[in-house]
Amino acid sequence: MIELTHKTMKIKEINHSIAYFNETNTGKYIEINKHLKKYPKLYAKVMLHESKHASTEGFWPNILIDIKDMFDIHKQLMLFAFMLKHPSSIRSLIPFFFENKRVSVNWFMLYFMLFMFLVSFVIVYNIWR
Ligand SMILES: [Zn+2]
Repeated sequence: MIELTHKTMKIKEINHSIAYFNETNTGKYIEINKHLKKYPKLYAKVMLHESKHASTEGFWPNILIDIKDMFDIHKQLMLFAFMLKHPSSIRSLIPFFFENKRVSVNWFMLYFMLFMFLVSFVIVYNIWR
């Protein structure tokens, strides 16, 4: 794992997922998929997104950042293409995963999936009732 210093933020390069902002007792850092460097436009958008998380306090304001991001269609298309080329990045779409013997929760994906489930349920219910 390579560590670079980006302004005051530490950057850890990882070879899965897209990116995460993390805060531990050793400081704040952004974990970012090393393959993203090959796509400077997407890399810049991902770094901007993670730096928004870094400067935002609270659970719901951070969820809101992810919701707004869904409407950046250009970024979502670039992410989709990236995921096809680098399948290990798909881990970003999984709501739960094990990391360092503990469960990490991707709260945005968890809520997003619950929301989609609810929408599907309402649609199916209205067709078959
Ligand atoms: Zn986010």
